[in-house]
Amino acid sequence: MRVGLIGLGAMGEPMAHNLASTGLLYAVWNRTPEKAWVVAQELNVLQADSPSQLAEWCDVVITCVSADKDVLEVIWALIPGLGPGKIVVDTSTVSSATAITASKMLEDHGANFLDAPVSGGVEGAKNAMLAMMVGGDEDVLERARQVLEQVSARIVLMGPVGSGQGTKAVNQVMAAGINQAVTEALAFAHELNLPMDKVIDVISGGAAGNWFLEHRGPSMTHAQFNPGFKLELHHKDLTICKRMAEEKGLQLPLTEQTIKDYQVLMNEGFGQEDISALYRLKP
Ligand code: NAP
Repeated sequence: MRVGLIGLGAMGEPMAHNLASTGLLYAVWNRTPEKAWVVAQELNVLQADSPSQLAEWCDVVITCVSADKDVLEVIWALIPGLGPGKIVVDTSTVSSATAITASKMLEDHGANFLDAPVSGGVEGAKNAMLAMMVGGDEDVLERARQVLEQVSARIVLMGPVGSGQGTKAVNQVMAAGINQAVTEALAFAHELNLPMDKVIDVISGGAAGNWFLEHRGPSMTHAQFNPGFKLELHHKDLTICKRMAEEKGLQLPLTEQTIKDYQVLMNEGFGQEDISALYRLKP
């Protein structure tokens, strides 16, 4: 089976490495071609000239790009190279509506689509330990499973197309709350003049321990905010979550506060930093 990957950013590049290490990766394409050239050389795979060329070459195409419009642009560009039996797996975080639109665009060309957003951060992508929440047909997932297992430790079919992204929206709401709680608590610890590394160490081993504290606590308290997960991307995700909640007549107060806080940070030029830069706003 030949696999192609589109979008060699913080998440896509390590996924490409893991796919290449099992010999499944055949080709890559990236909007900025210089990045694709470097990765193709390093992994000894082909660099496609266009998404459609990559689609012609490959049985499974994995996409990992930024936002809704980017996914739809890439799907549109893939179409001339797609045909019956080919599978497109989108691992970007976008709305369920975009996933459904993408699937319909591909249906007319006989190709199959899975929305398969991931959680686990750049570390999860590097270690092939991502949790993948999938929307689509079971038989399509079974055909792609061997490929997806090279980048994920946990793959769960959530329901029809769009339900992977619905589940990821739940994940992003939770991540916002955890970010608020951890940054607020660590700022409090700082004000109490506690030894920060020890605070992170001991709390990580108890009931309040969590992934974000363990992986981002040490860096944020040393004023390092390299992504990780870019704040402006989480802002994009939370805006989707807010819209989805409004459609159901729900309010998400922590999410709304986090959107406001991220906007402040983005206005100050910190949008490319990790989401743990929220610590900058804590007293
Ligand atoms: P990133 O480092 O900013 O990379 C984005 C990638 O998308 C780049 O390769 C970029 O190409 C490409 N791209 C953007 N717009 C495009 C377009 N219109 N057409 C073609 N390619 C386009 O982002 P990332 O952190 O890898 O995140 C990618 C996706 O995964 C996002 O949806 C994000 O929400 C999700 N995600 C991220 C994390 C994380 O921890 N970082 C975790 C889970 C999920 P260029 O090189 O040309 O800019």
